[in-house]
Amino acid sequence: MKSLHEMTKDDLKEIKMIVFDVDGVIVPRGTKIKQIGNTTTLETKIIESKEIEQIKQLSKKGFLINISSGRGLYMLQEMFRKVLPFVVLTYENGSATWHKGKIYQHINSFEYLNDIFPKLKQIINKKIKGFEPKEFIITIHCTEKIPEIEEIVSKDPNLYTVWNGEAYDVGVKNQQTKALGLRQTMKIFKLKKKNVMAMGDNYNDTELLKKSGISVSADKTRVNGSFFVPLEGQFLPADNLMQKILSLLD
Ligand SMILES: [Mg+2]
Repeated sequence: MKSLHEMTKDDLKEIKMIVFDVDGVIVPRGTKIKQIGNTTTLETKIIESKEIEQIKQLSKKGFLINISSGRGLYMLQEMFRKVLPFVVLTYENGSATWHKGKIYQHINSFEYLNDIFPKLKQIINKKIKGFEPKEFIITIHCTEKIPEIEEIVSKDPNLYTVWNGEAYDVGVKNQQTKALGLRQTMKIFKLKKKNVMAMGDNYNDTELLKKSGISVSADKTRVNGSFFVPLEGQFLPADNLMQKILSLLD
């Protein structure tokens, strides 16, 4: 892995789309969620206005900006409200893509997840903070890993769990990953692997980074990339990368 400082203008030659993960990349890690009975409280994180400007500038330079997150669409729309005309939103680990009000669904996980959901809901454990509202995957926020969740899911050969340090995502094995979202988004915009640069920081970004022409890791202890930036640097990882790209094109 090379340091982002070593990126050159030549690396950008073929790049047409830049894919950003959200948590740990555009906003700091950590989701505040609380669930008491039927009341779920979920904090919306604010994107720095500097990053909003950078996204607009990259879009002006001709790059397609794809946000690829494990979060739900409603949340991403809220977070990216100021740049919605300039971004393509791929959500719930590649399950679907939103572009200018049109939704492309990439997987139907209903039959796969329908039986497991009530089983997971039945677990009583103080470490469970809450189920994040999602349409295509199941996300359970926990203060730490819970073996019971992993055991229940592992009994179903079609499903995976990914632990990202604050929550489990449960989805369809080998299918429902950010690579699916990338593949389908590339089809929509007629792009090739060499046209894609992607940045991610966590285990659910592994497949996305592997399928991108140029990958940038924002946490090299968790994912590999052609380049890396520090997670805890002076700037947020996406800010770092956008600064770099814009400076190379100046
Ligand atoms: Mg992340």
